[in-house]
Amino acid sequence: MYNPKSLKAEEFISDEEILDTLEYAEKNKHNRELIEQILEKASPKKTGRGVECAGLSHREASVLLACDIPEVTEKMYNLAREIKKAFYGNRIVMFAPLYLSNYCVNQCVYCPYHYQNREIPRKKLTQEEIIAEVTALQDMGHKRLAIESGEDPVNNPIEYILECINTIYSIKHKNGAIRRVNVNIAATTVENYRKLKDAGIGTYILFQETYHKESYERLHPAGPKHNYAYHTEAMDRAMEGGIDDVGLGVLFGLDMYKYEFAGLLMHAEHLEAVHGVGPHTISVPRVKRASDIDPNVFDNSIDDDTFAKIIACIRIAVPYTGMIISTRENETCRNKVLGLGISQISGGSRTSVGGYAGYSADERPHDTEQFDVSDQRSLDEVVKWLMDMDYIPSFCTACYREGRTGDRFMSLCKVGQIQNCCHPNALMTLQEYLEDYASPETKAVGEALIAREIHNVTNPKVKEKAIANLEAIKNGSRDFRF
Ligand code: SAM
Repeated sequence: MYNPKSLKAEEFISDEEILDTLEYAEKNKHNRELIEQILEKASPKKTGRGVECAGLSHREASVLLACDIPEVTEKMYNLAREIKKAFYGNRIVMFAPLYLSNYCVNQCVYCPYHYQNREIPRKKLTQEEIIAEVTALQDMGHKRLAIESGEDPVNNPIEYILECINTIYSIKHKNGAIRRVNVNIAATTVENYRKLKDAGIGTYILFQETYHKESYERLHPAGPKHNYAYHTEAMDRAMEGGIDDVGLGVLFGLDMYKYEFAGLLMHAEHLEAVHGVGPHTISVPRVKRASDIDPNVFDNSIDDDTFAKIIACIRIAVPYTGMIISTRENETCRNKVLGLGISQISGGSRTSVGGYAGYSADERPHDTEQFDVSDQRSLDEVVKWLMDMDYIPSFCTACYREGRTGDRFMSLCKVGQIQNCCHPNALMTLQEYLEDYASPETKAVGEALIAREIHNVTNPKVKEKAIANLEAIKNGSRDFRF
């Protein structure tokens, strides 16, 4: 029985409801009147409080995803761009993954860390190695990390993860600092989520991989991750443990994308219904080649056009969520989807355990890598590339440091207020990056961008303060935020 308010996985992600939804979507995929109504419902509306978007239910959004009329797709893309602009402007938040350990007791058949893979050397960073990795990341200019680890209660217990987070936050090297650590570790207990919250994490990210229970169990034949309900209910435990910001995701390619899409939106609706706040972010990874993993054995891979459509439909359906794309995607694909709704990208990433320190920009160790990185550019190259396209790369971490998490973030975002601080914060953190880490070419492009963009700060008092702060940053001060 489908019930978004239930705390049971099989009730808030109901297989029956998804199958009904897919049938409804297929039946209505050429119903122009309905499609027009759906697009109208999702369009941004000016209200007394600012700009608001209604979002869409999983049923409505599934109709859009199923529709294959080219001019409707064009309309959807335009709407996705409009929504993205209304809530996220032209800012793109930058981050990097940091792999702590590839020890794992699970048997995820798509992941090279699965415990039967004898080809991959197992490695776990010591605290000294973490200092070296984080120093290298700070020297690139990163301020925000996503830590990644396999699941292994003996080698990577929660105490190890907490110690790593502590170490990461403690490293201050030159003007560098990691100001936000997001965490992507396996589903755990309320008690452990509370410990992560107390350690000061940003978002807790956990990919569902697939919402299809049977496929899930087949793809995770052994280990604690085999338990579909425990995995699917993890975000509820995280929220019970006090973590306000949670990040959802599906590993596209494992099962049918239309099924995953409906499941993902139902998960978002569930979080909103139970906790009053939807997902802080949604990630859209696709299966990649890796040690002992041939992506071609998964027969649900999606092409770039379908991928772009999924991203646009998520943006339209869940207008306030941040959307993340990693270096699993190449430059061309990233370029295509940035405008359609992506608000965060990684840059200069290494997906191996210990892949940053001691390697030059074009040297990359492959031995412990989690997957092939498609976008192999340096952070400086990615930053310049974004600015050349008029995006503002942002190193901002202000929201959670100012307590703007969970529903406080969402309610500000919902009326477009978040932009009153996000825009100047993006410019100030970009200025820091330009002063401390950018190449001369990137710095020149960035200076010109900031000079143009500062005029888009509408509140005169904020603008005046931001201009003063930018000057102070040039004179050596750091870490301003609204
Ligand atoms: N071990 C944790 C867990 O099980 O949730 C999280 C960390 S894991 C390093 C991060 C994510 O990488 C997984 O959730 C999965 O979606 C993704 N992943 C695993 N194998 C992959 C592959 N071959 N290609 C692309 N992404 C992959």
